[in-house]
Amino acid sequence: SDQTTITFHDGNSIPQVGLGVWQTPNDTAVTAVKAALATGYRHIDTAAIYENEQGVGEGIRASGVARAEIFLTTKLWNSDQGYEQTLKAFDASLKRLGTDYVDLYLIHWPAPKRDQYVDTWKAFIQLQKEGRARSIGVSNFYPEHLQRLIDETGITPVINQIELHPDFPQTQARAYHDKHRIITQSWSPLGQGTLLENPVVAKVAAKHGRTPAQVITRWHIDNGLVVIPKSVTPSRIEENFKVFDFKLDADDMATFAGLEKDGKRIGPDPMTASF
Ligand code: NAD
Repeated sequence: SDQTTITFHDGNSIPQVGLGVWQTPNDTAVTAVKAALATGYRHIDTAAIYENEQGVGEGIRASGVARAEIFLTTKLWNSDQGYEQTLKAFDASLKRLGTDYVDLYLIHWPAPKRDQYVDTWKAFIQLQKEGRARSIGVSNFYPEHLQRLIDETGITPVINQIELHPDFPQTQARAYHDKHRIITQSWSPLGQGTLLENPVVAKVAAKHGRTPAQVITRWHIDNGLVVIPKSVTPSRIEENFKVFDFKLDADDMATFAGLEKDGKRIGPDPMTASF
């Protein structure tokens, strides 16, 4: 396929569309990852807390696609934050994945009440020096959390994975990221499926002869975002990836912008999340 990639400030690059595997048990993760890699995906997004790193690793090995061709992300869970704990948790993730490096390691949440994300980040910097985490980034960080990492360590995360969908476009966060060369990655890009029956989306889909999931995925791509739609159904996994042969135009972007007025977060607010 002619999938697009985005280059990080550390020189590495990430395929713009990846497969998300949240809420996917190990056995299902094996088949979903195999289906995605067979379709042409080269980017998989998992996390320690998803409890499917083993299935993801197995799916990768069963696919016949070389590890070096695949961009693999996992995330550090909140209760493993802190310098020494992070190093241990990272080893455990690699072991479950059955690989000796990840392409991207993310701090899953800032968990500001724990106040450990700076020490955690120092361990991430060490893991990148060792070459075991090729790139390091964060998830669910507000600009003030990012700024603390930059001020206290001098190392800027390459990416921030945040909740972002057309009706919750995170305009302020993206402006901060752009200023600091941080790539924005969209989680729950389809609004966890809630946007797929939206009439505004349906209108743009009909115009292009595409499905709602395809035009929403394309909206993320055309906004310069990295996007990880989730499905465990092979036909939908394939559908979500067939998005490199069309583009949204200015009218479509204006139509999508109309969704913002109803926009709201689906997931927890990182500032006040209880975990
Ligand atoms: P999503 O927005 O990707 O929506 C997924 C749901 O949409 C599926 O369960 C399915 O019901 C439906 N769907 C997908 N493709 C479809 C299609 N072609 N046709 C019809 N229905 C379709 O939701 P998500 O899983 O919450 O987010 C995607 C990924 O983002 C996750 O799997 C995970 O990897 C990541 N994520 C990260 C965080 C974080 O804190 N960093 C939080 C949530 C999700």
